[in-house]
Amino acid sequence: MNHATCSHCGIVFRRTSSMQRYCTSVCRFLAVANQFEAVDGCWIWPKSTNPVTGYGQMMTRVGGRSVLVAVHRLSFEVMKGPIPEGLQVLHKCDNRRCFNPMHLFAGTQRENILDMISKGRAAPYPRRRAMSSAVALK
Ligand SMILES: [Zn+2]
Ligand SMILES: [Zn+2]
Repeated sequence: MNHATCSHCGIVFRRTSSMQRYCTSVCRFLAVANQFEAVDGCWIWPKSTNPVTGYGQMMTRVGGRSVLVAVHRLSFEVMKGPIPEGLQVLHKCDNRRCFNPMHLFAGTQRENILDMISKGRAAPYPRRRAMSSAVALK
């Protein structure tokens, strides 16, 4: 059979395509997550983002089909546990590419909208990146 060693955790798994390097989407996520860029405490997803939602995204295989998963949701599930039924994963930091589990919380769409209004997200985005700590971290 077609076996491979997971590039992240090292276990031997049966792969469904010759491109597959990780045993699960969790291992793939963790391998990519290791390369994140820290900006003001946010973990910036180093791979692609969804052009519509602005969320970090990752391709994964489910039952032999390729599907896109939102990285902040995956991060929440991997680091904190299952997303409660009916709730969404929201950002405390308003940075949609961020997947730092400390910045994520589960809430309703209504909470998300109230949160957005309270932070005045409709107003021009404040230039808080100007004082970025990223330089100091390098
Ligand atoms: Zn693995
Ligand atoms: Zn953040």
